[in-house]
Amino acid sequence: MPGYDDPNDEGNSEKYHTGKLCIECGKRPAGTAWSPYFCFECNVKRIKRIDEQLKQIKKKLLYGGEIMIDISKIKVGDKVHYIPFDGCDDSRIENGIVKEMPGYTQTAIRVVFKCAGEWDRFMDYTSELTPKENLGYGWKNAEYEIR
Ligand SMILES: [Zn+2]
Repeated sequence: MPGYDDPNDEGNSEKYHTGKLCIECGKRPAGTAWSPYFCFECNVKRIKRIDEQLKQIKKKLLYGGEIMIDISKIKVGDKVHYIPFDGCDDSRIENGIVKEMPGYTQTAIRVVFKCAGEWDRFMDYTSELTPKENLGYGWKNAEYEIR
């Protein structure tokens, strides 16, 4: 998709503006050759995000590498799941919520795993420092979904 990050590319010209506002930032005019819903800035971020995901999937397919979470993109309150070891049974996977990113390490984050189902109050519960290698995005089994 060359040109998507070039503000002077024809695909980013006013010709593609839809007259609506960007669905992501809600501030700038939506519409580029790549999507009618996003402004130029948000579209660049979106395509980079997709690109990164594709790279990780490729890496996994080619080298069998694990798709790890990216600490720079994770936020407090994000849902994650803990995988004790590669290929383990689903029943051993634990869902959690990100409580803190300690500044002193780039390889682990603090996650709350057990809070008696009171996920809305996760900040009040004790977290565990968890290596990012063992974490995946989102919650695993939908039946555990509480909110
Ligand atoms: Zn935007």
